[in-house]
Amino acid sequence: MNRKLRMGMVGGGIGSFIGPVHRKAAGIDGEIELVCGAFSILPEESIATGAALYLDPSRVYTTFQEMMEKEKKMPADKRIDFVSVVTPNHVHFAPTKLALESGFHVIVEKPIAFSLKEANTLKKLVEKTGLVLALTHTYTGYPMVKEARELIRSGKLGAIRKVYVEYPQGWLSKALEKTGNMQASWRTDPKQSGMGGAIGDIGTHAANLAEYVTGGKITEVCALLNTVVEGRRLDDDTSMLLRFNNGATGVLIATQVAAGEENNLNIRVYGEKGGLEWKQEEPNTLIMKWLDRPKEVVRAGWTYLSAEAKNFIRTPPGHPEGYLEAFANIYRAFTKAVRDYKPGKKVDPAKYDFPDVNDGVHGMAFVETVVKSAGSNKKWIQLK
Ligand code: NAD
Repeated sequence: MNRKLRMGMVGGGIGSFIGPVHRKAAGIDGEIELVCGAFSILPEESIATGAALYLDPSRVYTTFQEMMEKEKKMPADKRIDFVSVVTPNHVHFAPTKLALESGFHVIVEKPIAFSLKEANTLKKLVEKTGLVLALTHTYTGYPMVKEARELIRSGKLGAIRKVYVEYPQGWLSKALEKTGNMQASWRTDPKQSGMGGAIGDIGTHAANLAEYVTGGKITEVCALLNTVVEGRRLDDDTSMLLRFNNGATGVLIATQVAAGEENNLNIRVYGEKGGLEWKQEEPNTLIMKWLDRPKEVVRAGWTYLSAEAKNFIRTPPGHPEGYLEAFANIYRAFTKAVRDYKPGKKVDPAKYDFPDVNDGVHGMAFVETVVKSAGSNKKWIQLK
């Protein structure tokens, strides 16, 4: 396919958070052009967003149903190749399903759906159609996260024993949802966010990061879901113990009431021979710790990195890449897969390195299991 891929967007209206991030990230490598969208729940806001992006007004739609219907009828040299779904959680499933049914590839925000059942429906559709679906677990797009994964995969740390993953944010320390803040309002409403608050919003990222870096899968949780801010209807603070299928155990903390914290996702992993540490707010540095020698500081951009990390780096050492580039790396891998797509031929996401529908299904199983565990007293023994 010797041209830019054509993207349509669902969500991402003026004033939204992640839609504009996706648009910038999709543009970084010059391989994608935004040609249409149904950008908002409010028709006039969708039209205003399209105008602000200088789109052809005839391709600015007021609903995602209209967008899929009209786009699929367009000639092949005009219609979109894929849809980017960047709406709140309760509007992930329907546009993703419709896009796949209309023959479009999809990039969708996490969590992939509202329930495990919905996630499995999407998985079946991906398997049936062979279309490419990527899930934006952004943090696995960082080159130093890919380096950490390669170091563990190559056995440098030995068998993995312990995983600590923390995701503290502070922005929901007060009842921001009562002030009309759009992002806080839907995130704290079970009808729009789902059965989990912080656990669905950021806990899923932490769990996905732990699994991606270690190569293990979480099989069991012992979880506490806590609601700190009075009157809030979903958890805003979660802690849990984890068991992985490779014998490792872990601790996961995801909280949005850690006052003063910004977006401090961080992970430490320890194996038989050493450990590693990565922090999202310092994404170009990876610290290695050894049983028998001093710590090492591994930095982005250098030729000593693995090919798997170097494939996703655009600038030399000391010229920092960040959040937008991590997002762009998911678009880069997805774009390659879409370019290689041939009807009837199965795409293997592992070959390209992007989070896929299986991550989405596993993420929903994670949220449902955490909620179940938190509602049970089985593992908790009261002090006398
Ligand atoms: P937001 O509230 O800022 O924006 C949501 C946008 O979707 C708004 O423009 C709204 O009008 C639009 N919308 C709602 N319903 C719609 C519909 N039916 N059709 C078309 N547009 C519709 O939300 P946000 O903070 O950008 O979050 C959006 C999604 O992105 C969430 O699922 C969230 O979990 C995810 N997210 C992911 C990351 C990440 O790092 N991967 C970061 C932030 C948010």
